[in-house]
Amino acid sequence: MPFSQAKSAHQQETFRVGVFYDGTLAKARRNVDVTIAEGRILSVTEGAPGGEHLRTVPCMTPGLTNAHVHLEASGEAASQDAWSRSTQNERVIAAVQNARKSLYAGVTSVRDLGCSGGSATSVAAAIADGKIEGPRISAAGAVICMTGGHAWFLGRQVDSPWEARKAVREQLLAGATCIKFIATGGVLTRGAVPGNAQLTPEELQAGIDEAHRHGLRTAAHAIGTLGIKNALRGGIDSIEHGHMLDDEAIELFKSNGAYLVPTLTAPTCILEHAEDGKQPQWALEKARLVAREMQVNIARAYRAGVKVAGGSDAGTPYNFHDRYAYEVELMHRLLGMSPHEALHAATAVASELVGLTNGTLAPGEPADLLLLERDIADDITTLYRPLGVMKNGSRIVDRAG
Ligand SMILES: [Zn+2]
Repeated sequence: MPFSQAKSAHQQETFRVGVFYDGTLAKARRNVDVTIAEGRILSVTEGAPGGEHLRTVPCMTPGLTNAHVHLEASGEAASQDAWSRSTQNERVIAAVQNARKSLYAGVTSVRDLGCSGGSATSVAAAIADGKIEGPRISAAGAVICMTGGHAWFLGRQVDSPWEARKAVREQLLAGATCIKFIATGGVLTRGAVPGNAQLTPEELQAGIDEAHRHGLRTAAHAIGTLGIKNALRGGIDSIEHGHMLDDEAIELFKSNGAYLVPTLTAPTCILEHAEDGKQPQWALEKARLVAREMQVNIARAYRAGVKVAGGSDAGTPYNFHDRYAYEVELMHRLLGMSPHEALHAATAVASELVGLTNGTLAPGEPADLLLLERDIADDITTLYRPLGVMKNGSRIVDRAG
């Protein structure tokens, strides 16, 4: 029996919540009763006298949204080699497992920004049909890159604006609900230089236009300064990584309303395991360079008012799908966000970008939520091990009940 039917989402249930975060930046509310019915939030009211029998939870937040994952990758140390050695069937199985792990760790929505053979779009459909467990998924299908560009081994390689349009149409046909372009080199592809622009402004502009014509949001992998600006000038909806952005890029982000998904976990995890003897030297060298830029530039962009959405690049070395809480912690520690602001970036802001739910808890919204042992303002690491996870009103994790 599919899990979604195993525990009914239709019963009405009320929690008495010590500290309630709705996903927005509104002040946290204390001592409220949250009632769930038919898989949605029915009401959020002041805790009334006489509710002593209700299930009490110290803290409640929306479920997390991870705006940048690769479900078919599992944190392997040498990711390009591991990918090349794996079969398509193994990658589908990994995507199924990683989707489930994400959900159990409190991630109720993800955006998959690059898979092979449509693995993530198939997993997304199977979850939506209730066949397997996992978060809500928006999937890009194959990344669109230049010939030999970053991630070429799992990408759709294009070398003209019309090819870029055709590649977008192919992803649409294959079930993609968003599109990913490779605007610069990257850390994990041998020979790709992160600072160098890759797809041309003309190719990006054509591909982004084609995606938008069909109602698909667009993301660009962009680390180098010129590639970031090429994508922003082409009308991209989100820049992934963005580590070498400058003042002009900050202005472009703001005038376009584009989002920045900083994926702080990705270089951090690579460098935390620099001595493992398993990662290629060339990847470590690139990660060091990128991490230096990231520490300075991303915080500056956030302070200047760029919309920062949570996304971890889960699947990259040692960056596991059940550790998205680390990205939330790093946004707090490295970007100067308060825990409340970091939660907002990983719920409402990321959800607004991904487009599956609003990532907020209010009457009428789906009951995708976390029950936490502590107030995140006192201890953000409480997100690592939720007491409870609900998706669409179904209990996925319930440690206390
Ligand atoms: Zn990625």
